[in-house]
Amino acid sequence: MQIDMIFAYALPLMVIWSIYLPVRKRLELRAVEKLAAATDAGLLEPASLHPIIDPARCIGCGSCVRACHEGEILGLIDGRSTLVEPANCIGHGMCKAVCPVDAITLVFGTDRRGVDIPNVSPNFETNVPGIFIAGELGGMGLVRNAIEQGRQAIDSISKLNGLGAPDMLDVVIVGCGPGGFSASLAALQHKLRFVTLEQDTLGGTVAHFPRGKLVMTQPFTLPLAGTFDFGELSKEELIAFFEDIVIKTGLKVNTGERVDSIARVDGHFEVKSTQGSYKTRSVLLTIGRRGTPRRLDVPGEEQPKVVYRMIDPEQYRGQHVLVVGGGDSALEAACEIAEQPGTVVTLSHRSESFGRAKQKNRERIKQAQQAGRVEVIFSSTVESIGVRDVNLKWNGEQRSFANDAVIVCVGGILPMPFLKSIGIEVETKYGTA
Ligand SMILES: Cc1cc2nc3c(=O)[nH]c(=O)nc-3n(C[C@H](O)[C@H](O)[C@H](O)COP(=O)(O)OP(=O)(O)OC[C@H]3O[C@@H](n4cnc5c(N)ncnc54)[C@H](O)[C@@H]3O)c2cc1C
Repeated sequence: MQIDMIFAYALPLMVIWSIYLPVRKRLELRAVEKLAAATDAGLLEPASLHPIIDPARCIGCGSCVRACHEGEILGLIDGRSTLVEPANCIGHGMCKAVCPVDAITLVFGTDRRGVDIPNVSPNFETNVPGIFIAGELGGMGLVRNAIEQGRQAIDSISKLNGLGAPDMLDVVIVGCGPGGFSASLAALQHKLRFVTLEQDTLGGTVAHFPRGKLVMTQPFTLPLAGTFDFGELSKEELIAFFEDIVIKTGLKVNTGERVDSIARVDGHFEVKSTQGSYKTRSVLLTIGRRGTPRRLDVPGEEQPKVVYRMIDPEQYRGQHVLVVGGGDSALEAACEIAEQPGTVVTLSHRSESFGRAKQKNRERIKQAQQAGRVEVIFSSTVESIGVRDVNLKWNGEQRSFANDAVIVCVGGILPMPFLKSIGIEVETKYGTA
């Protein structure tokens, strides 16, 4: 009888175990490889909010690994959860939410690299009275958080004294990602006098996600539009949803207008942008943390064929394309465009190697080069951009290339110096909440 029982229970368990163990071993090996690749490429620093795992508490159940929808950001190594692709963590915190033993804490920065977080009061006002911050710039990532905070910040602004003055706006909203979008709708709802200035296009960081990327969102409420619970939808669907609300509400967003400076003058603010100047009682900054793309500052750069992010490689089919830069985004853009039929891709980089890019991307570009799909020109700089050509300086000589499009991926100017120039206090966090 006892032997029967052993067979009834122990045998199935042994079978399950013998399948599970090799699978787990394989996953552990992959996690080790990912961590090694991230270490080689010097990509060990998370951008902002990220988990730290207490190894003494972690029971290695893998719930956090499975809960992260951004890919294999976490992995199990030696039976403990580990951040194996730290630079790709977007800080949505699902790992913490699902951990059954509370082994995960979400923190900003690491002991080696601090992350600057502006000091903001519970009503979203900074130490400069009249200037408010909401969304990812304040430290909390995610579409839903930005939407909720944008709305709440305008609720606070609508209670300020001195609104409705005839010679100035009530608020200038800077940035129209999810935070600025929600804030703009709230401003419309409160009948505030406002403008929304966006250097790029509606949607902010979401608009720059790769084509077809799935966006996970928790339920959110948009003023004048309602409460929505999408769970998961594509980036294109989310942008189309925002655009539909713009049409239905008549919201006006000044796209392609970048704010360059904000100064306090006699109890109000002067906001200077690329298109003009605005006098306002208050300012809401919903500019995210990704900054303003750095420009080349060369003649011809103002043409519409020059962009600072590659969104859809298919649009470059059959074209002569110049990609400028040597980081991951430049290499990825060059490789993806080169896969499109009929493209001629040139990659110009001012240094002699791709030292800052991930090993995976360095290998990919090498293969594209060997296959004759991409021409890489190291130690070169762009001199000017013509209507049908571009001029590069290389080994002391000028060389001209036929050209239909230029993609500039040379990094960005981060928002913190901008905040400091306005007098906003910023705290540097080194691995603390
Ligand atoms: C790869 C990746 C995947 C992600 N996936 C998800 C996901 O699945 N789910 C989720 O909830 N979140 C996700 N996120 C996070 C989410 O995109 C952000 O948290 C969210 O977009 C923040 O919204 P925001 O409005 O605060 O800032 P942003 O979306 O960054 O918008 C800021 C806007 O301000 C503009 N701006 C900046 N400076 C100026 C200036 N000087 N003048 C005028 N305009 C300016 C910018 O052009 C931009 O449009 C992801 C992020 C990344 C990078």
